[in-house]
Amino acid sequence: MRVAVVTVGDELLSGDTVNTNASWLCNRLDDRGVTVERITTVPDRVADIARVVNEYRAEYDAVLVTGGVGPTHDDVTMDGVATAFGRPVVPNEAAAAWIDEHGDYTVSDLTEGTTHLPEGARFLRNPEGVAPGAALDSVYVLPGVPDEMKAMFETVAGEFAGERGSVEEVHTSEPESALIDRLDGVQERFDVSVGSYPGDSVRLKIRGTDPATARAAADWLRERVDLATEVEQPEQGDAETSE
Ligand code: ATP
Ligand code: MG
Repeated sequence: MRVAVVTVGDELLSGDTVNTNASWLCNRLDDRGVTVERITTVPDRVADIARVVNEYRAEYDAVLVTGGVGPTHDDVTMDGVATAFGRPVVPNEAAAAWIDEHGDYTVSDLTEGTTHLPEGARFLRNPEGVAPGAALDSVYVLPGVPDEMKAMFETVAGEFAGERGSVEEVHTSEPESALIDRLDGVQERFDVSVGSYPGDSVRLKIRGTDPATARAAADWLRERVDLATEVEQPEQGDAETSE
């Protein structure tokens, strides 16, 4: 499964807020074997939201949009997503009923528009707050408040699945530039992909669909690179498949 993440908010583009929602979602999706192919941040502007949502829903299996779903004037994400589908934003009965039944409010206490969703959308409950989310075909709209976004994502996490395959890591003290021959060598011999991530040491991340192949490739590298001593070398592959 291939997905795109769209984060909405002027505060993300000005640098006032660090985009932790995107990293968190990418991590959770990766855990589930889903490939994230885009992270795009757009301003709180209907046309910009509609444009990327339309582009990405045509290209990817799902689009996750977060931020700007509250009822305040600067929250226009539901309008943007509705525009992408050529639909109006209308009161959603399921969202209103859920708020009436849960928590300390009734819908009449809330700012008008709080329970308005794109026409035909499936309401997504917000276990940590008030603003509801929405799912419309393959597009999921989640709040921006990180705790609310996370809790709501977990209510639909089962709809995101893929083949995770097997991941192995090797940490080496050698500089990246010195490793080229062995990185070429491992990929010639084994059906794996290898990512190389420099930091205090260089982290080599080996991914393969077959766990035994990924393990063999990691062992081949471990015998041929200077292993970093200051980091714990992962012992076992964390092969996992979720479908
Ligand atoms: P609310 O109903 O509270 O208005 P919302 O869904 O409209 O929520 P925003 O108004 O976009 O969300 O943002 C609410 C809070 O969450 C802000 O403090 C914002 O900085 C933070 N936030 C929004 N998007 C992100 C993000 N991508 N990563 C981290 N924090 C975020
Ligand atoms: Mg808001």
